Amino acid sequence: MLTVAYPQACLVCGGSVEERRFGIACRSCWEKTRIFTGAETICWKCGAHSPGIDLPAEVRKQIRCRRCDSQSFTAARAVGFYENALRASVLSLKRQPHLSSHLNNLLVNAARREPLNKATRIIPVPLHENRQHERGFNQASVIAEALSKELQLPLDQATLLRPRASEKYRAGLDPKGRRDTVAGAFEVRYPKLIEGESVLLVDDVFTTGATVNSCAEALLASGAGDVFVLTIARGKS
Ligand SMILES: [Zn+2]
Ligand SMILES: [Zn+2]
Repeated sequence: MLTVAYPQACLVCGGSVEERRFGIACRSCWEKTRIFTGAETICWKCGAHSPGIDLPAEVRKQIRCRRCDSQSFTAARAVGFYENALRASVLSLKRQPHLSSHLNNLLVNAARREPLNKATRIIPVPLHENRQHERGFNQASVIAEALSKELQLPLDQATLLRPRASEKYRAGLDPKGRRDTVAGAFEVRYPKLIEGESVLLVDDVFTTGATVNSCAEALLASGAGDVFVLTIARGKS
């Protein structure tokens, strides 16, 4: 972990970050960031938010947005929306392999909620080795390492591989194009390690779900029982 000088400037508003635990954003910018509490109404599968509906807990588990029917993962959740402090956290994590203790706590809280709390093993979405070499680290691994430590679950960085360099060409594509470039991009090297396991697949941001879906397809085809997805933020697809 890096030592960061404090007080530092908030990456959202430029004001000063009062407490080290808040990391890259000030308290006020964290307060303006919508964080999922587990009480809101979401698609139980993909985690898409349905504002304005208030339902009892057991009914909420039946809710599906139907847009995610073709996605292979069991369920996907995020700490909150891709805005303010969470957006800045995602961007910062591409440059520095560091999570603030506040974000660390938010990730752990999200992972302890149903149905993600059934996970038995943590796997970060891998980068292609060229990309990882450029950046020096995999941002998904930073999140996965922190969760593994807190949740006392094994961290598995050996099983899922990204042998094809697809992600470089993704930025300018529409959702269909993004799905095509990641389809078949991932391979499972040690299927025995994930047989019957409930995998917690970790990434920085969930946008269309194309990347995590492609990982989930590979993991499930190799014998994983469930694939739960956790990201820092959920963007607009
Ligand atoms: Zn701020
Ligand atoms: Zn959905």
